[in-house]
Order: sequence, then structure tokens, then C-alpha cells
Amino acid sequence: MATLIDGKAIARALSQTTAQAVAGMVAQGRGAPGLAVVLVGNDPASEVYVGRKISQCAKVGIHSIEHRLPADTAQADLLALIAALNADPGVHGILVQLPLPAQIDAGKVLDAIDPAKDVDGFHPVNVGRLSTGTGGLVPCTPLGCMMLLDTVIDNYRGLDAVVIGKSNIVGKPVAMLLLERECTVTVTHIATQGLPDIVRKADIVVAAAGAPELVKGDWIKPGAVVIDVGITRVTQPDGTTRLVGDCAAAEMDHARAVTPVPGGVGPMTIACLLANTVQAAQA
Ligand code: NAD
Repeated sequence: MATLIDGKAIARALSQTTAQAVAGMVAQGRGAPGLAVVLVGNDPASEVYVGRKISQCAKVGIHSIEHRLPADTAQADLLALIAALNADPGVHGILVQLPLPAQIDAGKVLDAIDPAKDVDGFHPVNVGRLSTGTGGLVPCTPLGCMMLLDTVIDNYRGLDAVVIGKSNIVGKPVAMLLLERECTVTVTHIATQGLPDIVRKADIVVAAAGAPELVKGDWIKPGAVVIDVGITRVTQPDGTTRLVGDCAAAEMDHARAVTPVPGGVGPMTIACLLANTVQAAQA
């Protein structure tokens, strides 16, 4: 049986470390880190994500500043807000919740964030730092994936890692992080030919496709470690819904360790956001 990597417990431990770091900053008279969270419009899923981020900030002592803008906000107004937040010394991290409404070019908005306050790690400067292995702020979900892997892998050198998905948010940055550890990394995507045989060679599988139960048990090399980033809500025959990962969870028994969905990568993402905010405030 594969070991289940308990993302909830690992995220809880990380948040405790973050809370201690915040308390240390306050005790030194430096003040609590400030995270500005910008939400444009009222997409229900985004409302839920922003609400969770704000409540988790409160739990670790990070001061969150919420900016809610109407759905018809002009790009220039959002850029003016970003400029004001960049200049505000009480704001150490800036998070713009995606997706943005159609009239706004998300790339332009993300590029406008001061890279030192870019706690999502999406700014081209931070992407460049990641790809050159020169520090910077690392995107939260890939950072969380590595922390989960670190609980079961001591030495990455020479391991074969296969990443399924090449998004800027998950696939590409996680591939960069694995490459930094000297894994041999293969990045696959929707047009990849012969995916099952590529995955069969992997000591580490990171599945981030958003394709429910794409990865079957017989794709997994015995002893491999599987990180399942995918989360899709699927409707079952009885009309109820459940969250499903990219891996067929019931078939993962010959993996050495696997993350559950939910309760694996998901909880790490917000915990890493809080850790990144402290990193930005301490820089
Ligand atoms: P995306 O849609 O931007 O990218 C998906 C990638 O997977 C693409 O590169 C695509 O080519 C590839 N892909 C899609 N179907 C495939 C298939 N059948 N075979 C091979 N490759 C395929 O998605 P994303 O933003 O990277 O997210 C991926 C998944 O991870 C989604 O389920 C998303 O909900 C989840 N996610 C979870 C968290 C978290 O906190 N747990 C965070 C971000 C994303």
C-alpha cells in the first residue's frame, strides 16, 4: 500500500512556522507583514478562495488588506491600485485573484506588480529567477508540491521525474524546481505521444492536467512517488458531486507514496502563500 502524504498536517506545520516568524517580527518591533488581496468582480469560486486566504492570514497574524473592485473596473484603475500598493511600505505582498474580467489584460496587471511583492511568483522577474536558480518568490502550488515530496524523498539527484501539464502556474515551475534538484525532468502535455510509457519510467510523477483519473495504476512504476495536483469536481451517477484528482486514486497501491485529493496539494497552496508573504516582508 502506498503511504498517503498528509497535506493537511504538513500545511498546518508550515503555517505554525509562519506564525512563529510573524510573532518574531512583531516582537522585534518590525510589525506584522501585510498582504493586499485584490478581487475584481464576484466570481463565486474566486470569492471562496479569497475568503480562505484572508481567514488563513488572520490565523498566522498576517495583516490582510482586501480590495474588492466591481466587475466593470477599467484596466487603468486596476493598474493605478497596483501602483499604490507597490508604493505602500505597509504592503509586503500583493495578490491579484485570477481570473480577471475580459476587459483586463491579466498579463499586464501581473507584470505591474513589484517583483519583490509578487507573492504568487508569476512576475517575469520571478519566473526568470526560478529558471536561473537565483532565488525570488516561487509560485505557491509548485512550492507546496516540493515540500510534500521533501517529506518522502531525501536525495533527488538523478531521479526521473515526469510532470503532466505545462501551465505557467504549476507544470513549468514545478519542472524547474525538480531540475534544480538534479532530477531528469520530462514535461508532458495534451499533445504528448505515448504518455503512459513516459510515466512508467518515472520515479516522481507530478500530475497537473485537470483531467480526472487520467493516470492509471499500471502507468506507475513500483515505488514511485505521485503528487496529484489536479482537482476536478465530477458529478456521480446519483447526482452528487465529488472532487477527483488526475490520478485514479484506487489504483495507486504500488506507488511508494501518493497525495490524496482532497487533502494533499490543496492545503499547501495557501500555507505557501503565507510563507511567501513572510519571505517578502523579511527581504
Ligand atoms: P491548465 O489548464 O492551465 O493546464 C493544464 C495542462 O495540462 C496543459 O498544459 C495541458 O496541455 C495539460 N493536459 C490537459 N489534459 C491533458 C491530458 N489528457 N494529457 C496530458 N496533458 C494534459 O491547468 P493548471 O492551472 O495548471 O491546473 C491543473 C490542475 O491542477 C487543475 O485540475 C487545477 O484545478 C489544479 N490546481 C490545483 C491547485 C491546488 O492548489 N491544489 C492549484 C492550481 C491548480
